[in-house]
Amino acid sequence: MTRSAIVIIAALVCFFTVSGVFAQDGALPLISLSELDALIAQDKESQPILDQSGVVDLALLVAFLSLAVFSFLKKSKTLKYVTMVSAVVYMGFIKGNLVSVVHLFALMEWSFPLFQYNITWYLLMGFTVVSTVLWGRLYCGRICAFGSLTQLMDRVLPSRWRVELPAWIDRRAIYFKYVLLVIVLVYFLITKDTLVYRYVEPFWMFTLSGSVVMWSLLAALLLTTVFIRNFYCRYLCIVGAGLGLLSNLTVFGIKRWQECNTCKLCEKECEWGAIQGPKISVSECVRCDDCEILYDDKARCPHWLMIGKKEAKREIPDSH
Ligand code: SF4
Ligand code: SF4
Ligand code: SF4
Repeated sequence: MTRSAIVIIAALVCFFTVSGVFAQDGALPLISLSELDALIAQDKESQPILDQSGVVDLALLVAFLSLAVFSFLKKSKTLKYVTMVSAVVYMGFIKGNLVSVVHLFALMEWSFPLFQYNITWYLLMGFTVVSTVLWGRLYCGRICAFGSLTQLMDRVLPSRWRVELPAWIDRRAIYFKYVLLVIVLVYFLITKDTLVYRYVEPFWMFTLSGSVVMWSLLAALLLTTVFIRNFYCRYLCIVGAGLGLLSNLTVFGIKRWQECNTCKLCEKECEWGAIQGPKISVSECVRCDDCEILYDDKARCPHWLMIGKKEAKREIPDSH
């Protein structure tokens, strides 16, 4: 067995086994969906629909989502990284606004918080679903705080530390997240235990509240990510799996040139293993822009180079 295979298997076993044993010791203030509903109902008469801080929250979320869409449509790398840093700081550490498997549980139970008191929550959920149907996993590409954190890690860490998994392992390992999605949803259907999310998601880290063991596990996960880029996102994330399935409805997919049948430039550029030959796997693609920037690059993309050559040939006889 190769060294990279041992790393991935050890990390999987370590993360799930030890978190299963020790997550009970977590110090998070967790409540079930029904308790959450009861609390909301109890408070609803005493709360204004949007107080001053609610208006500020809503405005900041609208500004952040606008930045995310603008950076995506402009294909601006600089704005993409600004969006990612904002995602980690604001969406992660300040607001803790992440799509979680708990939201999938709420969807299954058809149990949602009251709209008038949770407008920002509905805005983020609505945006995530609509943007996924329109473009694919834009949420994963630049809005999710954890995904942004690991992508930023990948940017600042030396590339020589990276371990590329053999293609045959990678192609199989990406399905693990879908298996996990089914297992967790079936488990929830049987037990109604929402707290299982602590066993399968690291998003609690943004609350800065966890036991020593939970932090140690997170450190192990992030350490693995140092060597295997986007490790959690690509192989383990249940939300990513759910959005990957939804991505099959994508309206505005990535275009391909005829030259993409033989050219491998974009396949090499894609950090998510979403391109194989001319085909792009919409479930794995996070609309990171890398290949789309190449698609329009007249100095590198063979499509444009061929057009340039043809035009140059045409101009030579014309000049005589
Ligand atoms: S795969 Fe999961 S952790 Fe990664 S960016 Fe998407 S939702 Fe976030
Ligand atoms: S560089 Fe151009 S031709 Fe090559 S795969 Fe990318 S879009 Fe296609
Ligand atoms: S490089 Fe292209 S195919 Fe790969 S994740 Fe980014 S946008 Fe998707």
